Parts: sequence; C-alpha cells; structure tokens
Amino acid sequence: MDCIFCKISNKELPANIVYEDDQVIVFRDIQPIAPEHVLAIPKKHIPSLMAIQPEDKELVGHLHLVLQKVAKELGVDEDGFRVVTNIGPHGQQTVFHLHYHLIGGRQLNWNM
Ligand code: AMP
Repeated sequence: MDCIFCKISNKELPANIVYEDDQVIVFRDIQPIAPEHVLAIPKKHIPSLMAIQPEDKELVGHLHLVLQKVAKELGVDEDGFRVVTNIGPHGQQTVFHLHYHLIGGRQLNWNM
C-alpha cells in the first residue's frame, strides 16, 4: 500500500520515533508547528477517524492511553497541549492514515 505512515510503521521510511509498541507508533512531525509536535498512529491502516470500526475500539482506546504517556514523557502534561485529528478536505487532512497530532510546548490559540 502506498501510504507514507504505513511505510514509517514498517520502517521503510525513516522517522524520529518517540514511542513504539506492537500496535502504535509515535513520531515527530516533519513540519512542527510548536516546540512539541508528534503524530500518534495505529500501525493498522485506518484511513481516518471516519473509518474506525467497532473492532478497533480497543486499539483506539490504547492510542489515547499512549497519548497520555507521551504527553508526560514530553513534559507537556502539566501546562497542557492539544490533540487534533484532521478529517477530509475541510479538515485539511493530507495523509490518509489515522493520526493524532499532539501539539504543545507553547501557548496555543484556537487558530493554533
Ligand atoms: P494532516 O494534514 O492532518 O493529514 O497531517 C499530516 C502531517 O504529517 C503533517 O503535519 C505533515 O507535516 C506530517 N508528515 C508528512 N510526512 C511526514 C513524514 N515523512 N514524517 C513525519 N511527518 C510527516
């Protein structure tokens, strides 16, 4: 499958990985918009939040717990941070593999 995030999770493409287990990988965004900006993805190819299926419930829950853990490791948990998933053209989704942006390390505004 021609998906850059599948290639990152298969180690066919390099990435600055900050967390990995058998189901999830978290790596630094190549174009960060804040001092801390990582992308948390399931290794399973799911195109977006709208393609999550009932059988993915445990995986998506696990992904949220990983976001908690990574936020602590990055040291943004006390000051706060933002988790965003873009969906479709109006959401400006550019990579069609489910990913959650974890953004922090500075004061965010609603327009980021
Ligand atoms: P979205 O626009 O929500 O689909 O987000 C895709 C994100 O992936 C953008 O913030 C890009 O900067 C990031 N991105 C694209 N290619 C790579 C890559 N090879 N490694 C890390 N981040 C990437």
